[in-house]
Amino acid sequence: MADDLSTTIAEAARLLAGARDVTLLSHINPDADTLGSALAVGLALHRRGVAVRVAFGEPETVPESLKALDTAGLLVHRDEVPQAPEFLVVMDTGSVQRLGPLGDRVTNCTGPVVVVDHHVSNTRYGTLHCVDSQAEATALIALRLLDEMDVEIDEPIARCLYAGLVTDTGGFRKAGPEAHKIAARLLETGVDAYAVTRPLMDSHPFAYLGMLSRVLAKAELDQKAAHGLGLAHAVVSLDDAREVRSEEVESVIDVVRSASEAEVAAVVKELRPGFWSVSLRAVSRVDVREVAQVLGGGGHRLAAGFTFDGTAEQVVAALKGALERVES
Ligand code: 5GP
Ligand code: MN
Repeated sequence: MADDLSTTIAEAARLLAGARDVTLLSHINPDADTLGSALAVGLALHRRGVAVRVAFGEPETVPESLKALDTAGLLVHRDEVPQAPEFLVVMDTGSVQRLGPLGDRVTNCTGPVVVVDHHVSNTRYGTLHCVDSQAEATALIALRLLDEMDVEIDEPIARCLYAGLVTDTGGFRKAGPEAHKIAARLLETGVDAYAVTRPLMDSHPFAYLGMLSRVLAKAELDQKAAHGLGLAHAVVSLDDAREVRSEEVESVIDVVRSASEAEVAAVVKELRPGFWSVSLRAVSRVDVREVAQVLGGGGHRLAAGFTFDGTAEQVVAALKGALERVES
């Protein structure tokens, strides 16, 4: 099918075939989709003799659960990214703001800025956009690009893509038939699904249990919120998070969203004193991307987020206000 995406992917593959030095960027607080997609394409280019680096703006270190994806040592600290890169590929990042301190590299880039993404809110900040908001994960678009580049998909590349696919689809709960077929193709290369998935989704240090019990004990259900569809929310303060990694804090939302009385779930996470990052999830009826956008954030219809300066109470009040403003 000669759609827009086929055309831009063909153009991206053509540009990459002539590249000598490529910087691949992931969004801040990287997850398996953004980093897996960057590492998969990065690995293919590296094997072809291209000078490659993969980086993200924040935090300063690589989340422990994602380290196993970097089989060729392509990840570098953000300070090692050239001030004026000659070729950028930006993965799974809807806006320049989501690159954090590396956002200026987009403006400074002296060559192509290829954006590969599946956010419907993508602001088209590059020079070439391989964006498909129907794709369940950016990893699926990255695979289309690799196929267009005639890259052999072997286990180290497939592992990166599988990691992005399994996490962004909520363990394939939100995956359509095509995504399942692609998962089968990736597994056929020898990817060990259980070994890849467990550290990403099902494994936490014991301290997680204590953190969860403290945080969940304070969780609240407001059935009047979201036009009566209900909001369940929890707050993770810096103090609550003291003994755990970011992976543990990020997974609290998966517990809170199981509250069946609530259409919307939120976890309000303190990143620095008085500065919060909020994860939003909806079951089916509320478009939480719209809610997040009211507060300056973004995301997908059923999974979105925003950041906020203030107290935890102010974040929750602002969220409830935004939920009233958005139709459901
Ligand atoms: P999570 O809750 O897993 O961090 O994020 C869910 C989705 O919301 C992600 O796909 C991400 O794109 C989006 N998201 C989370 N936080 C922000 C934010 O602060 N700004 C924007 N624009 N999107 C966000
Ligand atoms: Mn994604």
